[in-house]
Amino acid sequence: LWRTLTRDTAMTETILITGSNRGIGLELVHQYAAQGWQALACCRRPDQATTLNRLGEQFPNIAIYTLDVAQQDQVQQLAADLHDHPIDILFNNAGIYGPDDTVFGNTDEARWLECLHTNVIAPMQMMEAFLTHVAASKHKLIAAMSSKMGSMADNGSGGSYIYRSSKAALNAVMKSAAIDLAPRGVKVAILHPGWVQTDMGGPDAEITVAESVGRLREILGSVTPENSGTFFDIDGSTIPW
Ligand code: NAP
Repeated sequence: LWRTLTRDTAMTETILITGSNRGIGLELVHQYAAQGWQALACCRRPDQATTLNRLGEQFPNIAIYTLDVAQQDQVQQLAADLHDHPIDILFNNAGIYGPDDTVFGNTDEARWLECLHTNVIAPMQMMEAFLTHVAASKHKLIAAMSSKMGSMADNGSGGSYIYRSSKAALNAVMKSAAIDLAPRGVKVAILHPGWVQTDMGGPDAEITVAESVGRLREILGSVTPENSGTFFDIDGSTIPW
C-alpha cells in the first residue's frame, strides 16, 4: 500500500486526512486528489477500504496508510515514516458519535471515555506528532472536524451528552492550538461540515458529502493568521461557542 512519495510530489500541495475510508473523509480525499493534491489517505483497515482503494487506482496522487488515531504507536510510526514530507493541511476528520441513547440518567463511562479519546485526545496527539511536517509546508494549516453539536449557544434540544461534550472539548483544544502554534506560522480551522448524508449523519441529512466537502475546501482556502481558531459553519460564517 505504500506508494513512494517522489521529489515531484514534494512540490505538490499535500493533505493528510484521517478516517478517509468512508463518509466525509473519503470525499475529502476524492476532491483534493482531483485538484492535483497529494492525498495521504489514512484509515484503520486499508485492506477493507474497497472504495478508497478503487479511488487510489484512479488517482496516482493518493497514498493509503494504516492509522487508528487512538493508537499512539501508529500515530508515531506514521509521523516517522513521513518525516521529510511537508503536510500543507493536516485534517483531523475521524470521529465517532458514541452510543445513540445518551439520555440523562444513563451514563456509560467507558463509552464516554472512548469517545473523548477518539474525538479530543487523538486530534491533539496528531497535531503534536505532525507539527513539524505542517510547519515545513507552504499552507501550514490544521483542520479539525467539529460539529455544531459542540456549541453551547446552539444547544436548544439537550441530550447527546457524550458527543456534544467531546466536540466542545475538541473546540477548546483547537482554540488553544491556534494561539500556541501562531508563532510557528501554523493556522487552525475548526469546522462544522453541515448535516451530511453519511453513516453518522443518516440518509435524511440535509446535504451530500460532495456538497459539504466542496464548501469545506472553500473555507480552508480562506483561513488566514487573522481568522485562525474560528469555529466555521459550512457557509463560512462563525458559529458562537
Ligand atoms: P462516518 O461516516 O461515521 O465516518 C467516520 C470515519 O471516522 C470513518 O472513516 C471511521 O473509520 C473513522 N474513525 C472513527 N474512529 C477512528 C479511529 N479511532 N481511527 C481512525 N479512524 C476512525 O462519519 P462522517 O459523517 O463522515 O463524519 C466525519 C467527521 O465529521 C466526524 O468527526 C463527525 O463527528 C463530523 N461530523 C459529521 C456530521 C454529519 O452530519 N455527518 C455533522 C457534524 C460533524 P472506520 O470505518 O474504521 O470506523
